Formats: sequence, structure tokens, C-alpha cells
Amino acid sequence: MSQSQCGVSDRLFTIRYKCDDQSHLIIKEADTCLKCTTKDCNYFCPSDVYEWEKKLKITTVAYENCIECGTCRIACPSDNIHWVYPKGGYGITYKYG
Ligand code: SF4
Ligand code: SF4
Repeated sequence: MSQSQCGVSDRLFTIRYKCDDQSHLIIKEADTCLKCTTKDCNYFCPSDVYEWEKKLKITTVAYENCIECGTCRIACPSDNIHWVYPKGGYGITYKYG
């Protein structure tokens, strides 16, 4: 392999996450989720952050798994998710190498 070619391991990156004790993702209105028939958030999030809890009738938010892709800012049909970046120093860091 020539030196100009990159091996797979060169392209891999590691993910480091420093977890805040407060969620940066907030469900605005529990009632809106209750009425939501499609529960889109259970499907569009690549990190499975949102899950409809049938017994409690709430959407649970595993914010510590969020990779900050931003999809849930626009993909909830009822605009029912308040999304901000984690506070400075918290959240995800992508490190190439
Ligand atoms: S967050 Fe949005 S998509 Fe998810 S259950 Fe609530 S209203 Fe539906
Ligand atoms: S920003 Fe992306 S990874 Fe994080 S909760 Fe929203 S959809 Fe999931």
C-alpha cells in the first residue's frame, strides 16, 4: 500500500462523552406525546434516545446517548422537543486518530 492510501483504522474516530447531570433535551408537553400517534422520535434518532414508555405513558429521554446530530430539532411533527447543545465542557467529542 502506498503512503498516500489510508487504512480503515486511519479513518476511524473515537467518541468521548462527558455526561452532564441535566438533560439538554426536554420534552415540552407530555400531553402532546400522549396524543402523538406516530411516535416518530422512537425511530428517527440514530442513538435510540427516545422511547415511548407504555406503562407510564411518557416519552423517556436517554440524553446521555445523544450524539448531537440535531435531527430531533426538526423531526418531531409537533415540535415538542426542546434541543440545545450540552453546556460547555459536556457532551460529545469526536477525536480522529
Ligand atoms: S417527542 Fe414528538 S414524535 Fe416523539 S412522541 Fe412526542 S410528539 Fe411524538
Ligand atoms: S440530536 Fe440526534 S442523537 Fe441526539 S437525541 Fe436528537 S436525534 Fe437523537
